[in-house]
Amino acid sequence: MNGDKQTASILIVDDSETIRAKIKKVLLSEKGLFDFFYEAENGIDGYKKLLEHKIDLILCDVVMPQIDGFKLLLMVKGRPELKDIPIIMLTAEGDQEKKNLGLQKGASDYLTKPFDDFELLARVRLHLKLKLLQDELMEANKRLTFLSITDSLTQVYNRRYLMKMMVNEISRSKRYRSDLSFLLLDIDNFKVLNDTYGHQTGDQVLIDICIRISRSIRSTDILARYGGEEFAVLLPQVPLAGAEKVAEKIRKEVAEKPFQINEEKIDVTLSCGISCFIENKVDTIDTVIMEADRALYESKRSGKNRVTVSKDCLESITVHEDEAEK
Ligand code: GH3
Ligand code: MG
Ligand code: MG
Repeated sequence: MNGDKQTASILIVDDSETIRAKIKKVLLSEKGLFDFFYEAENGIDGYKKLLEHKIDLILCDVVMPQIDGFKLLLMVKGRPELKDIPIIMLTAEGDQEKKNLGLQKGASDYLTKPFDDFELLARVRLHLKLKLLQDELMEANKRLTFLSITDSLTQVYNRRYLMKMMVNEISRSKRYRSDLSFLLLDIDNFKVLNDTYGHQTGDQVLIDICIRISRSIRSTDILARYGGEEFAVLLPQVPLAGAEKVAEKIRKEVAEKPFQINEEKIDVTLSCGISCFIENKVDTIDTVIMEADRALYESKRSGKNRVTVSKDCLESITVHEDEAEK
């Protein structure tokens, strides 16, 4: 909720131009209620306007040629991106059956024709207010969801989201016997980098590294900050050999071009450990991470700036392939 006034728009659907003009005149009498007015003379025309513009409230006549108000109501309620727009039906006096039917099919309210100006304004005001509050709430929820899954420094996914996705992807691999690989990446000598250039420069390197990693992976891969200067990439549908190529691409992307932070050109490298899902062996979050961690440790131990595949994963796959050839 940013305090900016939301703009509001209304769609008036009625086959009578006189009635549309009268409604508009009444609504215009309250300054600032709507920023945009759209009009349509039948259901089809109204539906087109709804697809073309962002509309907050619909006033809709029931009896119209071809597509009538009820049909339009059904079309709106059947479309996810439109279904939350409140609809006030305009019905003839005394037609209780139509009023009830409209409410039953999802109309927010009704107005009886000929309408009273004060009542029209009051009902429109109320439903518009509810709609704008609902929009704000949905925006706030979206923002909260984003914050709850995002690392605030680098803007990549956080560890919590990674864990959730690992649960999903591991169960998918079990069910469909699909490939799943996992990379653990750790920046080499990051402590020295911080000590040499300062923590702020260190932070900027973390941000830039995420940009470089993102460039090297597909949109279906999941990059997360796993810890301080450690990152993880979950690669659904990617076999171990493919993951090795991705990891090597990331390693080069980082190592082959220095990072330009302010006036400094800084050489950075990272080490990587790779594991993959192996049924009945490496098939839990803990074992997948543990195997990648072991491989990462091996990369560090043997000199850093390199990629190592988990020995257990590699052996299991080789055994499997040998069996398949027999
Ligand atoms: P190695 O090559 O063995 O990985 O050595 P290293 O220095 O990278 O690893 P170590 O675990 O000794 O140090 C990690 C450093 O990362 C220490 C810590 O201050 C730094 N670090 C962790 N999170 C952040 C962060 O958010 N910003 C910055 N600038 N530094 C961080
Ligand atoms: Mg570390
Ligand atoms: Mg490190």
